Order: sequence, then structure tokens, then C-alpha cells
Amino acid sequence: MRPRRRAAVARAAVAFVAVAFPGVLLLSGCTSFADTLAAEGSAGSTRAGTSPSPEAAPKATCPAERAAPDPDRPIVDLTFRLEDDRRTVTGSETVTFTPDLPVDELVFRLTPNGPDSADTGNHLQVGAVRGSDVADSRYEAAGGAAPGGLYLVELDEELAPGQSTSVTLDFTLDLGQASFDRFGTDEGVSWWASGAPLLAWEPGVGWAEDPFVALSGETATSPAADTTVEVSAPEALTVLMTGEQAEPSAPRDGRRTWTSTEPAARDVSVAAGMFTTEERATPDGVRVTGGVLPGASIEAGRLADQTVAAIADLETYLGPFPYRTLTVPLLPDYGGGIEYPSSILLATPNRSVLVHEVAHMWFYGMVGNSQFRDPWLDEAFATYAEALVDPGSAAGLTRALDLDGDVGAAMDDFVDERRYFGVVYGKGAAALLAARQAAGAAEFDAAIRCYVDASAWTIATPTDVRTVLDDLRDAVRVLNRAHALGKDDVPR
Ligand SMILES: [Zn+2]
Repeated sequence: MRPRRRAAVARAAVAFVAVAFPGVLLLSGCTSFADTLAAEGSAGSTRAGTSPSPEAAPKATCPAERAAPDPDRPIVDLTFRLEDDRRTVTGSETVTFTPDLPVDELVFRLTPNGPDSADTGNHLQVGAVRGSDVADSRYEAAGGAAPGGLYLVELDEELAPGQSTSVTLDFTLDLGQASFDRFGTDEGVSWWASGAPLLAWEPGVGWAEDPFVALSGETATSPAADTTVEVSAPEALTVLMTGEQAEPSAPRDGRRTWTSTEPAARDVSVAAGMFTTEERATPDGVRVTGGVLPGASIEAGRLADQTVAAIADLETYLGPFPYRTLTVPLLPDYGGGIEYPSSILLATPNRSVLVHEVAHMWFYGMVGNSQFRDPWLDEAFATYAEALVDPGSAAGLTRALDLDGDVGAAMDDFVDERRYFGVVYGKGAAALLAARQAAGAAEFDAAIRCYVDASAWTIATPTDVRTVLDDLRDAVRVLNRAHALGKDDVPR
């Protein structure tokens, strides 16, 4: 996610004039790397640094091809019904789960019950739970509002690695007031993302039962799942969501049914509104759909064009876009954007926010991470990618390396949002830019491309980053100094 005024937030945290006003820096004569980027940007450069160099020799540890999703990944089938009040969603979720470690329960995360979302009236309640192996089920608080932030489904006996079980949960989701959040209702639009119980499994590690925190940021860990979505919505509304969408059903009883499939999705976003849509395609055939509400400040076609351009810019550095489709519903301007697999809740028409969220399709969507334990792996990398293709964003990171705080800290280490955004987004991205300069752009770009391809569809760790930088000691030193990496991250 990215609040539109992230730079101003960082500035407030550390009293940086320069972060919010890069023009001041150009006059100041500073010569840091980030200043150089700002200067290049103001000179009309379309690239923040050296152009990527695909001819750089790949390391021996790099896969010849991008890793494929785990064939034993979960299968998730979701059905949602947006009721006629447009603020109640009823649904069911069937999960077929094949663990790689022994388990005696399934753990789901109830994101709408997180403290920041519950405050505006969002609420997720689980009803009936069905499954031949189900023994019992219960909530756990985990820092969430009532009825709880986690939902545990106990199995009647231990499930061995490689064995499968299927569980179906019925649920009711109440959508709260419109705000910069994953759920809400406003005139002519309702939206929900992380709106169903979210399977909280980290392959090779176990259940992610991390508590919610009082920050506006993600804390979930979820595996890429073979996902289908079905949404019944009032006939007048157009649905834009995660996955490759089929044509909607013919209207019946005042409703239409919309379906989609996404072979590897960690989560699902749905927006149902009075959208006007326009579709574009990238040269590789990725279908991009922009959707705007009546009175929007930008046309749907222009939004789709900007999205296609962002994909092209980012593919230069990161390789092929991870999905076959991308939907971008533009919500009223609540001041930011929130990424979901192959869909973006864009709640501001700001172009650099759009680029940031598109970058998350690689960092979080495809290369997953524990957003609680290692938030920098998606947020610093998305901000870094944003800076590579957007000189204005790079300029905003100037001097962020000087901030106090560990880039690699967990969500519960941050006392407030200002420090979280400043250190994880700002300092994290600045450290990656400085590491790139220290290593040489071509070598660093090749290493990051290697990380992306090797870690695709997994839940990556800082050790995976450290592994691809093994020959780039100057870059490692920069990232160690920023406490993005540490000695625990050295591969064994
Ligand atoms: Zn973000």
C-alpha cells in the first residue's frame, strides 16, 4: 500500500525539509546519490539511474526460468454476495489445503477486524464451518476487535505433510464508512479486499499468528493459492476484481454474477461500482482494465494507458508482469492505493502511487513475504522500483538513508506510522538505491532479477535477498548499515 503523502509523513518523522521538497535540494548543492537522482529527474530523464543491463551475466544460483507456483498450493474457492443494501457481503470460502508440515488446525486471518479497520465499522464474522476433518473452531483476539483477529479450525486428527483436507467457512462481512482502507462503501461503489478469512500459512514455517498492530499497514502472511471468485452484485454495478474475469451473467432478479480465476493469488480484491471501464493490452497480451466512477478526474482509458506504461517501465527491471490481467478500479480520493494480486484499489489519481502499486505485483503478489515480520521486502522494494522508473519518487527519498531505525524491523517494532513509513518505505528504498550504486547498476539489477525469479510465488525472506547479493559485497555493506540485512540473513 502507499499513502499519497508518504514523503510528507517521512518528513514529519525526522524533520526533513528535503524529503518533501526536492527542489530545495537541487539548490543546496548536496551530492548524495539520491540528490543525483533528483537532478537527473529534473533534467527530464525518464529513468532514475543507469539503464538496466539484461546482458549482465546471471549468477550460477539463478534459475534459467522464473520459478513456477507450488503444484501442492492451496485451492481457494470464494463466493460473495453484495446485498442490496450495498454494505453487507455474505459469502463462503472453500479451502483445500495440503500442508508441507504436520498440522492439527487451520488458521485464518480476519483482516476487517484489525483495529484500524474495525474502527470505521468493518466487521467479519464466521458462521458455519464444514469439512469431514473439522472437530471444532474458535476465534482468537490477536490484537483484533471482537469477535477476534484470527479464526482457528481444529481438525479431528493430525494432518501429515502431503495429505489434504477441505474446509468450508460461511461468513458475513459488514462494510464500514468510506476511508483509505481495504473495505468501504461510498456513493455508487462498494469494495472489499482481504474480506474473507485469509489462510495464514507460511510453507516451511507454519501458521502466521502475528498480532494486528495499530498502524495503517499489512500484517498478513498468505500463500499463493489457486483461486476462483464468484460475486453476485446488484445489476447496475460493474465488478472489477482479482483474476481473469469472464463476462457477467445475464441479469436475473436484479442481479448479475461475475466470476474470475487466478492460478496463484495470495488474496482477493473486489470493487463493485458504477464504473465506466476501458481495456488495453500490453505487448505480451496482459489485459489491463481501468475503471472510473461518474465524475472522476481521469478517464478510464487514460488510467488504463498509465497502467500499461507502468507495467512496461517496471518489466524493464523486473522481468515479465506476473499475471495475465490487471484491474484498476479508481475509488474516490481517500489518499493512496492498496495492492492486491492482479487488482489495485486506487484511491487517488496520483500516478506515482499507481506505479508503486503496480510494482507490488512483483513484490508481495508474486514474491511474497511475511508482511508482519519483514515489511521491507514488499514496501521498500516497491518504493525502490517506483523510484527506478519515476524520478519524482526518487527525489523524495533523498537523505532518507540518514533516518534512525532498522529497515528490517518487524511491524510491532514501530511506535507510529510516521516512523514506519519513513524507515521501511523511505530508508529501505534509499538503501536499495545506494546498494545499487555501490554494486554497479547492471550487476545489482541482475541480482534483483535473480531474486525475483528464484523467489517467485514463495514467501521470501531476507536470506533470499542476501543469497543473490553474495558476490556484491559493497551492496551488502550498504544494506547491513541500514539494518535491512544482518548476520542472521547470511545463507548457510
Ligand atoms: Zn506499498
